[in-house]
Amino acid sequence: MKFADLHLHTQFSDGTFTPEELVGRADKLGFAAIALTDHDSVEGCARAAAACAAVQMEFIPGAELTAEHDDTEVHILGYFLDTQNKVLLDRIGKFQAVRQNRIYEMCAALNKLGIPLKAESVFALANCKSPGRPHVARALVKEKLIGNLDEAFEKYLKKGRPAWVPKNKMSALEGIELIHQAGGLAVMAHPGLNRTDDIIPGLVKAGLDGIECFHTKHSTVMSERYLEIAEKYDLLVTGGSDCHGFSKKQPLIGTVKLPYEHVEKMKAAKKIADERRAAAK
Ligand code: AMP
Ligand code: ZN
Ligand code: FE
Ligand code: FE
Repeated sequence: MKFADLHLHTQFSDGTFTPEELVGRADKLGFAAIALTDHDSVEGCARAAAACAAVQMEFIPGAELTAEHDDTEVHILGYFLDTQNKVLLDRIGKFQAVRQNRIYEMCAALNKLGIPLKAESVFALANCKSPGRPHVARALVKEKLIGNLDEAFEKYLKKGRPAWVPKNKMSALEGIELIHQAGGLAVMAHPGLNRTDDIIPGLVKAGLDGIECFHTKHSTVMSERYLEIAEKYDLLVTGGSDCHGFSKKQPLIGTVKLPYEHVEKMKAAKKIADERRAAAK
C-alpha cells in the first residue's frame, strides 16, 4: 500500500522543520507522496521539491490559505499550485504583510498588559514572511514571559483573549478562484475543527474541488461524516497530519496516512481542469 500526507508545515510558516527535515521524516515513514501546505506561503516548495526528488518521493506544491466565509474562518488548501504564478504571489504577499503587521499589534497589546515582548524578537524567532500566533507564543516561552505554549494561547492569544488580534482575511470564494487561476485544486481544510458544515454547499458552488476528510483532529466518526459529504457533493477526498514539527510535543507526521488512490484521483482532476482551462483560452 502507498500512502500520502497532504497537510504539512515548515519553518516557512509556523512549523519547526526545514523542508529537508520534513522530507527526511516522510521518507523514513515510507510515504509515497507529500504536499507542503504552509500558511499563506509557497516559499518552502522549491526546497521540498528538491529534497523529495533526491529520495524519489512524489511532491505536490501547496499552501493553506486563511480565508473566511459568512464570518467563519475557513482554511483552504491549494494543491498542484504553480508556485511562480504572479497573481498568487502578489495576493499572498499582501496577506503576509497583514500577518507581519499583526505581530506588532499583538506585541503592543501584550506590552499594554505589562509583558515586555518586542515584535523584533518575534520576527527574529519566526524568520519567515508568514509569521503567526505560534511564533508569538514561542517568543513568550523563550523569554520566560510564560510557562508554555498552551498557556500563551489560553492566557493571551486565543480568540477573545487580550492579545488576540483579528486578521484581515480573503474570502473563501476568492481563495478558491486564486488557487484555480494558479492551476491548483482547492480543498477545504479540517472541516471538523471549525464545525462549519453549513458553509460547504456555498463553497461547492464556488468550485471547491475537495474536502480534507482525514486529519489528526478528526475522530473516526468525523472522517466518516466528511467521506459521506464528499460523496454527496462529488468532492475529492484528501487527508494529512497538519504536522507543525516540534511545536506539538511530538511531530504529527505519520499519524495520518492517506491511501494513495486519492492522490491518483486528484491528479486526474488536475488534468481535466488543465485541459478545460487550455480549451477556454
Ligand atoms: P494564526 O494563523 O496566526 O492565527 O495562528 C494559527 C495557528 O496557531 C494554527 O495553525 C495553529 O497551528 C496554532 N494554534 C491555534 N490555536 C492554538 C492553541 N489554542 N494552542 C496552540 N496552537 C494553536
Ligand atoms: Zn499552523
Ligand atoms: Fe488550518
Ligand atoms: Fe495547517
